[in-house]
Amino acid sequence: MAGYLLARAGVPVIVLEKHADFFRDFRGDTIHPSTLQLMYELGLLDEFLNQPHQEVRELRAVVNGQLVPIADFTKLPTRCKFIAFMPQWDFLNFLSAHAKQFPSFQLLMQHEVVDLTFDQERVTGVRVKTPRGDLEIRADLVIGADGRHSIIQKRAGLERQEFGVAIDVLWMRISKRENDPQQTLGFFQQGKLLVLLDRGDYWQCGFVIPKGGFELIKTRGLQQLQNEIVSFAGFLRDRVGELDDWSKIKLLTVQINRLRNWCRDRLLCIGDSAHAMSPAGGVGINLAIQDAVATANLLAQQLRAGPVSIDDLRRVQERREWPTRLIQAMQVFVHRHVVTGQSSHRKDSLPFVVRLLKWFPALRQIPARFIGIGPRPEHYSGRVR
Ligand SMILES: Cc1cc2nc3c(=O)[nH]c(=O)nc-3n(C[C@H](O)[C@H](O)[C@H](O)COP(=O)(O)OP(=O)(O)OC[C@H]3O[C@@H](n4cnc5c(N)ncnc54)[C@H](O)[C@@H]3O)c2cc1C
Repeated sequence: MAGYLLARAGVPVIVLEKHADFFRDFRGDTIHPSTLQLMYELGLLDEFLNQPHQEVRELRAVVNGQLVPIADFTKLPTRCKFIAFMPQWDFLNFLSAHAKQFPSFQLLMQHEVVDLTFDQERVTGVRVKTPRGDLEIRADLVIGADGRHSIIQKRAGLERQEFGVAIDVLWMRISKRENDPQQTLGFFQQGKLLVLLDRGDYWQCGFVIPKGGFELIKTRGLQQLQNEIVSFAGFLRDRVGELDDWSKIKLLTVQINRLRNWCRDRLLCIGDSAHAMSPAGGVGINLAIQDAVATANLLAQQLRAGPVSIDDLRRVQERREWPTRLIQAMQVFVHRHVVTGQSSHRKDSLPFVVRLLKWFPALRQIPARFIGIGPRPEHYSGRVR
């Protein structure tokens, strides 16, 4: 998104992606109302909505066996009053296809950044590994948007604060049948959580486990894991046996962390590279996109003319740090109180907050706003046109 916006503003941009395509199983699928609003502001919304996707207007979860509404997006002050579920590779292909229409945009696949180059303290570019050999790319600004295992962040020596996370996620596919429930679903049960993302002909399953607990689960055996999944979502009973080999079950480690400084001279980190997000609330993609918009809004004009100062880069952090802190605090809270088994609720009882949402429909607009728009939403500024 940062590459798209900067190129649209006439800034020469090279986006480096280490993989040969965007097809990653572990990406989230949520495109939030605030991102859809941005697509509208960019004039891309109609075409975007022509891509295969699902529209979720109300978020519901099955909590201790009871179906409960969590968030109602229908009253949001946005053009699209829903979350669009679209595999992230489709979204990235869509965005990069549009970015390629700008003469100043280049996307280089299978180009892995392995190091930074410096002139004393100043970052001057990156070293890149490609199938055709290594190369060096010089740049006025390096933007680290390389996710939660960011090499840019490490090589830049930026200090990171870790906020302990007590969960990991098992990530696997189970086939989908015609009579299955129609929506993406979250099943909470006594502090445990199974999420099913509808990917057309299969369910992408995210099963939350205690951090470091995968070895114990393996020791107990596949049958036990299958039984546990069925205890959350009984309709999967006839096909949970598809998970017949541990190679079909990937362990995704969950982190929440944040850089103290998101930048140094001629380098800026955004998205998970600056602040790794957990899946809680499904807001990490939205936050990364908001960072990209703020980056383009604040820097595009100067970048057209040449390098930007460290103070300019700090302004991006100043703008985005507060929303990041708030959302990460929410994620830490959710981990502690909802999905780590620390709750003491009876098997069939609903947590108090969930009961409130059930009793008072108006309250569902609070999580809708937090998840769907988030604090301090960014808008496409005419300046980057
Ligand atoms: C299990 C799990 C499920 C999640 N589900 C959701 C969800 O449903 N909704 C949601 O909003 N958030 C979700 N999140 C959080 C979300 O995935 C992240 O917050 C979001 O993807 C961050 O976007 P990003 O662009 O900063 O980084 P990423 O999406 O990680 O993208 C980084 C990109 O950089 C590339 N790259 C990495 N290193 C290099 C390198 N050295 N050289 C070149 N390229 C490189 C990667 O291949 C990748 O394409 C989930 C997180 C986890 C762990």
